[in-house]
Amino acid sequence: MARIAVGGFQHETNTFAPVKTPYEDFLVPGGWPALTRGEALFANVEGTSTPIAGAIAAGRKAGHTLVPLSWCMATPASYVTDDAFERIATMLLEELDAALAQGPLDAVYLDLHGAAVTESFEDAEGELIARVKARAGDIPVAVSLDLHANVTEGMVRDAALIDAYRHYPHIDMAETGARAMRALLRRLGTGRPWHSRFHKFPFLTAINWQCTMIEPGDTLRQMIDSLAANEDVTVAFCPGFALADIAECGPALAVYGAEQARADAVFEELRQAVEAVREDFAGTLWSPEAAIRHAMRADKPGPYVLCDTQDNPGGGGEADTTGILQALIDLDAQNALVAIIKDPEAARAAHAAGVGSDLDLELGAGTRQPGIHPVKGRFLVEQLSDGQTVGTGPMFGGNPINVGDSALLRIGGVQVLVTSRKTQVADQAILRHIGIEPKSLHILVLKSSVHFRADFQPIATEVLVVQSPGPVVADLASMPFRKLRPGVALTPVGPIHKETTQRGGGTP
Ligand SMILES: [Zn+2]
Repeated sequence: MARIAVGGFQHETNTFAPVKTPYEDFLVPGGWPALTRGEALFANVEGTSTPIAGAIAAGRKAGHTLVPLSWCMATPASYVTDDAFERIATMLLEELDAALAQGPLDAVYLDLHGAAVTESFEDAEGELIARVKARAGDIPVAVSLDLHANVTEGMVRDAALIDAYRHYPHIDMAETGARAMRALLRRLGTGRPWHSRFHKFPFLTAINWQCTMIEPGDTLRQMIDSLAANEDVTVAFCPGFALADIAECGPALAVYGAEQARADAVFEELRQAVEAVREDFAGTLWSPEAAIRHAMRADKPGPYVLCDTQDNPGGGGEADTTGILQALIDLDAQNALVAIIKDPEAARAAHAAGVGSDLDLELGAGTRQPGIHPVKGRFLVEQLSDGQTVGTGPMFGGNPINVGDSALLRIGGVQVLVTSRKTQVADQAILRHIGIEPKSLHILVLKSSVHFRADFQPIATEVLVVQSPGPVVADLASMPFRKLRPGVALTPVGPIHKETTQRGGGTP
């Protein structure tokens, strides 16, 4: 029976986003369990869709002893502050020291994202794995990563194996944690390091076109499932998170296995498959006006789901841009809903005024991003809530959701769900908890890029990806990369990044 320490730290950092990520953001994340350490960790993540929950269940099922370290996650935003990272890393290492003081460990499992950037470290996860290795000694450290990880040489050097989500929407987070734990147990059984192959692809892809419910992601995901079906190899294909401007940004493939020939064969087949579909990571971006007019002209009933991808809180948006809301009002759209606009002041005012009141508001744009303005108007307060619910969809099912005091407002034919905290709108529970039936709407605007598809695509008449001003930029060729390594194409067939004017540390 093995004794295995388990912990985690998850953040996806959009280095172009307007607001940094302080320690407090890990304490009460919008759609995830709160930060915990020690024994409380097990109860805190039990029943959630997190990778660590899956890893714990798999380890216990196999009869091993699991030792809790610490775990936390924050909603994506800009750089994790040094203060936050050092407090989180110190906490995890203190728990590791305490575990080692109780007796020897056989291995460590870490639930990481893989695209965290701090003010000082471009590769925050690589730094954390290295610190764990330095403390734990010569025992394997297995890692599971998000599909959006920018996998680095440092991670591959120090981790015994890396697994990653295969689905986007990430409906397989807990399953990935379980698979990584099973791989770690097999690795312990082999008694020697596994062979590994690693490749970075020389192009970036926008998150919108990485979805595995559309091509080419669907076919690649099926290939990986098939090649790794009997779990003799561990495969991490991560298309990456291009809005983390670091040298090692971009898609990567890592394959591990006890048998070198088998790992090599799987690696080569997948590497060639990705290269062959490189140009297919592309799609149509609509303007707000064109998308709304398309939905208004349609003779089929809705909902027409417009994803406000560039303000996706899951990619570093603040859920407070107003471009699509203003266009809906200007075009006099009917039976339309925007979910969500984060505006704690407006939510407070609505709660103070009460249901049935009219409020004159300047709504949204609280983070004062350039070119983004509040929507001025008189809004009717239709519903109020404390913003607390539990996810019911394929990805967030079972997870606590806390968007703070919330209000359903109306202006003309347009409703707005106003919240106090941001979260990616990827679960129908966020709408239903305040009395909205998503299926009854004609136009439904969601602050999400892809994850909404898991719960909303099945009820959508059509999904339109809309490009309205915001920090989760879909057209990567327009972005001012500074730290990305030279030679990388900014889109699969786009311009090549030529110069790197600054290297090293994280913060601008
Ligand atoms: Zn992701």
